[in-house]
Amino acid sequence: MKRRKPQILPIRIYGDKTLRKVAVPVKEITPELKDFIEDLILTMYETDGVGLAAPQVGNSVRIFVVDAFWFQEDGKKDPVVLINPEFIEFEGQIEHEEGCLSLPEIYEKVVRAEKVKIKGLNENWEEVQYEADELFSRALQHEYDHLDGILFIDKIPKLKRIFLKKKLRELESSTDRNGVNKGKQMHHTHGEL
Ligand SMILES: [Zn+2]
Repeated sequence: MKRRKPQILPIRIYGDKTLRKVAVPVKEITPELKDFIEDLILTMYETDGVGLAAPQVGNSVRIFVVDAFWFQEDGKKDPVVLINPEFIEFEGQIEHEEGCLSLPEIYEKVVRAEKVKIKGLNENWEEVQYEADELFSRALQHEYDHLDGILFIDKIPKLKRIFLKKKLRELESSTDRNGVNKGKQMHHTHGEL
């Protein structure tokens, strides 16, 4: 069977209703789902992201991809695929600035666990487990939140959120009647998630 070429998927922007849904677990891996995961990986790299969750491209399933190292100097592309992920351990707490492909041009400090241990299935339906710290740990937690309809701006102090109101309303304004917001496709350079 000839495999199809991966394609870049439009990123859903704040205001899109899929971003606020709790995504459903995956029951089995299918050729279509494998193609979708390839698209997700390509889209992450093409938008200069370090992580991308399925709901961010309008597919409400519990899958995300992360590559926290590829944009570092002489970093190779080595995507981590997680299907139906679950955290096993959290350790410590650390605050760091975050950005999100679905929230263009918004960067805020978010408190998260410093280290995490996570398990899930990969694209070959094999059990995988990762221990992560620094950006890898942050990316896993950020992407996992997307599967529960949570965005990083939900985790910042209320006062800061008030300052973002205008910007958020602007982003929201390109949402259509069906709750789809493919917004303005932007080029990112900050390692968004
Ligand atoms: Zn995000």
